Amino acid sequence: MTFTELGLNPDILKAIEEQGYTKPTPIQEQAIPIVLEKHDILAAAQTGTGKTAAFTLPLLNTLSKKKSTPKEKHYVKALVLTPTRELASQVAENIEAYSRYLPLKSAVIFGGVGINPQKAILRKGVDIVIATPGRLLDLVGQKCIDLSRVEFFVLDEADRMLDMGFIHDMKKIIAIIPKHRQTLLFSATFSDEIKKLSESLLNNAKIVEVERRNASSNQVSQVVHYVNKDTKKHLLAHLIDEGNWNQVLVFTRTKHGANKLAEFLNKQGISSAAIHGNKSQGARTKALSNFKSKDIRVLVATDIAARGIDIALLPHVVNFELPNVSEDYVHRIGRTGRAGNEGVAMSLVCSDEYFFLSDIEKLIKKSIEVVPVEGFTLTKLAKPNIQKKTNERSNNRAKNKPNSDSNSKLKSRNTNTFESNKKEKSKNKANIKFPDKKRVSKKDDSKSLISKWENEVKKQKDNESKNPRNPRNRRITSASKGR
Ligand code: AMP
Repeated sequence: MTFTELGLNPDILKAIEEQGYTKPTPIQEQAIPIVLEKHDILAAAQTGTGKTAAFTLPLLNTLSKKKSTPKEKHYVKALVLTPTRELASQVAENIEAYSRYLPLKSAVIFGGVGINPQKAILRKGVDIVIATPGRLLDLVGQKCIDLSRVEFFVLDEADRMLDMGFIHDMKKIIAIIPKHRQTLLFSATFSDEIKKLSESLLNNAKIVEVERRNASSNQVSQVVHYVNKDTKKHLLAHLIDEGNWNQVLVFTRTKHGANKLAEFLNKQGISSAAIHGNKSQGARTKALSNFKSKDIRVLVATDIAARGIDIALLPHVVNFELPNVSEDYVHRIGRTGRAGNEGVAMSLVCSDEYFFLSDIEKLIKKSIEVVPVEGFTLTKLAKPNIQKKTNERSNNRAKNKPNSDSNSKLKSRNTNTFESNKKEKSKNKANIKFPDKKRVSKKDDSKSLISKWENEVKKQKDNESKNPRNPRNRRITSASKGR
């Protein structure tokens, strides 16, 4: 199938040809005809599959057919909501590119930057608004934007929007846009929450699902390096140096971890910047543009900050720490191997992450190849404290906490989940039998196993750090001295 066969207008075809797109991606092939036929849509597609064009192209096609008198002021006809500022600007860039030969104006709106320039653009009149919920509501409250004539409502990465606790903001926005509209809901996953949301939002929607970009995507080679926690950063510097990588996106689980790692790499002479929720919007934009232009080699990011980052031909993604929510692994590695290009996703895994790795492998339904790096790698992972990790994982699942970039909204959502878990537990309490002898002794068993394991790890660490012949010690010392 070609874009011409999809029935798009010549001005749009010209713009996408200039982008170098030769044929529609699967999500575009499926979604474009449905949107052109004016149906609502519920689409499961992740960033990297071409989903932005899948909703933008038919939307532009329909809007461009509308007759307007030359003097009629532009008014908001399409509203695209995204969870993060990065994704909003990414989508806005795409919309700008696809609509360059059309008489349509678009504007991007998000927080963390001055509101006045956004007000000025809105005052002149725009047809398409791409926004994050908070700033949009701010502008609605100040009566600087009129959403009463919206015809297209797009929810991009709706699952992440729910994860980030935007449900109330979303409801407020939905309440002020017209009921009679076309709604396009895009989500990486179809959770029960998404199904519930779609039932309340969509009207006779068609469902489109493209293959998940997970391990089955052979465009991304996945590799695991087992490594001790305290040598991870040295291994990363070694890999970047040896491989002469000049553009690598590195994921950490915490903002603090991202800062520390970027600092370490800079000290090693590897230019790096960190991007996360605590950085000002200016710093985030600068880091991203320096990374895109290859002025810096490494961008260290937390999951939320990295959402929507789309860098053409990004060759390397490194999980400095595995995410505690397995789905995030799929999102992370989806940053590379995009639109037909090949990429490599590496995970530096220490024993603490044993269970995260096994959860991820369960999700992607395959085991990831373990490649030893001479001088750095553990031969195998030691199983950590089973009970503690299991609790941590089930708590994470219950909370569905994406990472420590949590904002207050997220926290309040998590608190609610926690409260309901508590209620659930007390409901079940009545059914719990008094612990019998067997249970108690089992607990003791696991206690002694844990201390055995801890001793084992300690012994292993001591031996490694004392052994001058250990190639890992040699390499790290010489490598760090050299840098
Ligand atoms: P998205 O999933 O919208 O973030 O898109 C991921 C990447 O694919 C972006 O860099 C797009 O420019 C690119 N892309 C979108 N559609 C196509 C296409 N039909 N052919 C080639 N690249 C595309």
